[in-house]
Amino acid sequence: MDGHEREFVSEVFDSNWIAPLGPMVDGFEAALAAYTGVKHAATMSSGTAAIHLALILLGVKPGDYVICQSFTFSATANPIRYLGATPVFVDSEAETWNMCPIALEKAIRACKNGEIAQDHLQNSKPTPKTGQHQTTDRSSPVSTNLKPKAILPVHLYGMPAKMDQINAIAAKHDIPVIEDAAEALGSHINGKPCGSFGDLGILSFNGNKIITTSGGGALLANDEEKIKKARFLATQARDPAPHYQHSEIGYNYRMSNILAGVGRGQMQVLPERIQQRRANFDFYNDLLKDVPGLSFLPEPEGYFSNRWLTTILVDPAKTGGITRETIRLALEADNIESRPLWKPMHQQPVFASYPFFSTGVSNKLFEQGLCLPSGSSLTPADHERISTVLKNVLKM
Ligand SMILES: *Cc1c(COP(=O)(O)O)cnc(C)c1O
Repeated sequence: MDGHEREFVSEVFDSNWIAPLGPMVDGFEAALAAYTGVKHAATMSSGTAAIHLALILLGVKPGDYVICQSFTFSATANPIRYLGATPVFVDSEAETWNMCPIALEKAIRACKNGEIAQDHLQNSKPTPKTGQHQTTDRSSPVSTNLKPKAILPVHLYGMPAKMDQINAIAAKHDIPVIEDAAEALGSHINGKPCGSFGDLGILSFNGNKIITTSGGGALLANDEEKIKKARFLATQARDPAPHYQHSEIGYNYRMSNILAGVGRGQMQVLPERIQQRRANFDFYNDLLKDVPGLSFLPEPEGYFSNRWLTTILVDPAKTGGITRETIRLALEADNIESRPLWKPMHQQPVFASYPFFSTGVSNKLFEQGLCLPSGSSLTPADHERISTVLKNVLKM
């Protein structure tokens, strides 16, 4: 927190607008729309809730295919299963670590040609144990709708995905795009902000993100009808009537007016947070760029990453046997936390049976990748401590 958040939160208390809507929510939504250049924003209780509603708005039903980046956090994929739809995972390409347009095209064709339905259903059928009572079959029903209902690319670690290519493929096949920009607020491609490329964009303000409201998210769209519908569904789908009447299943997904106050304060420090995160990247890059076997993710021409987390790849064939675990454990021994990169969804026990279109990239990233300490609040003294451990373990 920076300090301005308190002023906005005090304003909420003074006005006694303590509710999951109110003037502070309106103000935060206006600030998000202005920042991302998208016409409308609806704040939500989480980024996950925003993805869930985005899928509902696109009419995703049980058995439908939704194409999803495999290399991501599980929150991207879980809402596909909330709806009983089938995630079709697509691997990454090496330049941005995000959805590979070539693998995407293959996945769409395979769905449309009915090439993957049978495989997947065989894999996902639960095998009943002997003597076990046969209850409901939880596997996805056979889809009658072969064309995928949505494409879900992610800007992982703040690096923009290849949105021009992905959008071109989506347009060719007439499939809407939901852009998971949870980690990429402030990132852009040639000045066009992440969150503004898809038919629907989603943001997260969870505690670990570049700005936070402790928990929260937002749905972005130029289509006003979609945002109106999202607000309706997020407030229990109340029909316009003096009594409580419901013709649709609703959700309680709106953001609290108090938290929106925190969000408005955080918007003021977003440029500074991006600068701090990018300074972390520069620190590690300067320190480690000449170490054989270590590599960073450079920004492709025209791409700007908020560098939410600084990540490195460690190739033991070139480091003399030092692996990312050697480095992680050396940091841990000095009570410094670092983590492997996201484990791709196709490797997760809960998603392993779903279709996957591989390039080999995300397997390698998970094997060799490490997220280095990347908080906005890292001090020069912290950098010094981390640098000592890294120099030691890498024998620099
Ligand atoms: C954090 C995150 C989400 C989910 O956001 P929550 O607000 O935590 O629900 C979705 N996708 C990605 C890539 C994320 O990192």
